Amino acid sequence: MQLKVLGSSGSRAPGFHASCLLINQRLLLDAGTVSFALSLEEQAQIDDVLLTHAHLDHMVDLAFLADNMMGLRTKSIRVWAPEPVLAMVSEHLLNNKVWPDFTRLPSSDRPVLRYCPLPPEGPVEIAGLQVSWRQTNHPVHTVGYLFETEHAAILYSGDTSDTEEIWQLGRECTKLRGAFIETSFPNRLDDLAIRSGHMTPAMLEKQLVKLDRDDVPVYIFHMKQQYLDELQRELSQSAHPQLTVLRGGEIYEI
Ligand SMILES: [Zn+2]
Ligand SMILES: [Zn+2]
Repeated sequence: MQLKVLGSSGSRAPGFHASCLLINQRLLLDAGTVSFALSLEEQAQIDDVLLTHAHLDHMVDLAFLADNMMGLRTKSIRVWAPEPVLAMVSEHLLNNKVWPDFTRLPSSDRPVLRYCPLPPEGPVEIAGLQVSWRQTNHPVHTVGYLFETEHAAILYSGDTSDTEEIWQLGRECTKLRGAFIETSFPNRLDDLAIRSGHMTPAMLEKQLVKLDRDDVPVYIFHMKQQYLDELQRELSQSAHPQLTVLRGGEIYEI
């Protein structure tokens, strides 16, 4: 599995791009950063987009990816997410008011995007990977994902505050080779973190105890960049032996 970190930040500023991973060049995990990071030719290779939730920093570039692909692709890009997430994208972003409904353009029978609700029973195969999910603790319907090949797996937390089920999924996966976990605010802002459905480094430590996988590298994303120095200082105290703070642009072969 090849993972390219297109964005790892909890917001946007010069040099900091919102959360987005490209898997095997054709599966996009969240859509915070596409148009800044990929050429049109690279964007045209994306067959599937998988969303954790419908907050703007995770779906904003779906709007520009769809626009850019008009006339460049004949095959629809499948947009996967739990049904409540797709309903929010359809109602609040691609609603023919804020932005065109690209599930009907350029024509209803050959649209640029096609919504694919995840079946409630899961797991499902997407872009050659087995994908499982669990709901996390965030103010809107949000899931974290486990991606499995025959020999390896990675976990992606999505946005979350203190949670349980996604860690159980990772803990029980013997072929887990990496865990991407959000941490947004420094410890002194733990009240804000809890109220906005995010984590601090201290809360992360509690989740890592639940994950109970010191053998697996942990990659931190979704930092709010105005607190980056403070966050890096606090994260450097982690008890986990293999913790990396993502900067964006990294490529991993897992
Ligand atoms: Zn969010
Ligand atoms: Zn977010």
